[in-house]
Amino acid sequence: MPTPSPSEPLPIDERFLRTLEENFPGLRMIAKEESALQRWIGRLLWVITLGGQNAYLEDYTTVFGKTIYTPRSWSKRSPEERYFTLRHEAVHLEQFKRLGKFKMAFLYGIWILPMGLAWGRARLEWEAYAETLRAVAEIKGLEAAASLREHIVKQFVGPAYGWMWPFRRAVEKWFDEELERIRKTTKAS
Ligand SMILES: [Zn+2]
Repeated sequence: MPTPSPSEPLPIDERFLRTLEENFPGLRMIAKEESALQRWIGRLLWVITLGGQNAYLEDYTTVFGKTIYTPRSWSKRSPEERYFTLRHEAVHLEQFKRLGKFKMAFLYGIWILPMGLAWGRARLEWEAYAETLRAVAEIKGLEAAASLREHIVKQFVGPAYGWMWPFRRAVEKWFDEELERIRKTTKAS
């Protein structure tokens, strides 16, 4: 990405990153594949989901504490796409701040079960996906947010996060209710 000259405004993702750095002192961004631990987690997830989660290093951004681990596809994404992801990850940064690493790791990783019935993870991810939706609605409109329905539902009912809440109807209901809330509270049309 070319560096903008001082007179040019920063791209939307860069601007948001500045805000995050102010709100979360000590924030770091690291390429996921440069972290041995993240590479190991990627392999572990691939094994325990029987190959279902095969894009952890490629496509999924992960937050731990104040570190955002970016996937391989990060540099290929548009500033807008990166902004949407950062809005989602900002919620996880906030959750780490609110709950602390221990409680966050417990809720995200273990409660109620590590896989298949991961209520803690599903609630924490829901809070973050709701923010993804809000960001998309603000920038691209409600229709664009609505079109994410199947993609987001799959994140909950499929292997990406270990089948964290495999109850399609319940997740679809969360989605529809959230979109309705956004419809009422944003100027997006
Ligand atoms: Zn998330």
